[in-house]
Amino acid sequence: MKSNHSYLILAFLIIPILSGCAKGNTSLHPDFKISKQELTDVVRSLPDGIRNNILKKPQCFLEFMERILREDPAYTVLVDKSHSLTKTYIPKDLININDYGIPVTKKNLKLRSIVIPDLKAMEEAANLRGIKLTIGSSYRSYTYQNRLYSHYVKTEGREKADRESARPGHSQHQLGTTIDFYPIEDNFIETKQGTWLSENAWKYGFSLSYPPNAETITGYKYEPWHYRYVGRDVAYIIKRYFLGQQEIFLQFFNTHKKFFMERIIS
Ligand SMILES: [Zn+2]
Repeated sequence: MKSNHSYLILAFLIIPILSGCAKGNTSLHPDFKISKQELTDVVRSLPDGIRNNILKKPQCFLEFMERILREDPAYTVLVDKSHSLTKTYIPKDLININDYGIPVTKKNLKLRSIVIPDLKAMEEAANLRGIKLTIGSSYRSYTYQNRLYSHYVKTEGREKADRESARPGHSQHQLGTTIDFYPIEDNFIETKQGTWLSENAWKYGFSLSYPPNAETITGYKYEPWHYRYVGRDVAYIIKRYFLGQQEIFLQFFNTHKKFFMERIIS
């Protein structure tokens, strides 16, 4: 039988280990050298809801951040009103979507090959529910986007064109990972396809780029048909922590990428 003395020694050994987790300067995740205070500082400028989500479950957040930091940078490159791709950026692994048995509105639509496995999985899952997903637009070259934008400017005027069409170099479609599902219409969200995608696309790595009531953040009006493939980890973090705001996550990630990279314990 152990003496009281032995229990006392045991308590002295265990208490510091347990209480260490709650201390401000202790690392939050075994793979990162980041304290709670440092993380609190980094997320300070984020909207309240997002900041609270991260600080409530910081370990899980860092788990996903670590995975994302090691993934294809194409998933997190920022392409928006103020960040562009060069005129010569053409992805090397473009394939013809029609060759993979995925429904398209035009035979020559292309995407990067890295999108196909999750796109196929998503299409099959939708099929099981009796929903047929069809792709209306996908990769667009710089030159094509230039023609499209000029057409909008000519027919609608520059101000309206900028709310609905990206300037050349600023379109996510140039990445080769972005899809407009058919029909490309404002009421797409009311269709079976639109509703199903809004609930399920994130599970397959797709993220809605221009959500409702976010024009001040994205610069674009709501586009319920426009999804960017960002991989399953990024799609999860956007949904779980960033309230579905892809633009806010990508801005945050690109601003603080170096901070997180430098603190990974490899
Ligand atoms: Zn689009």
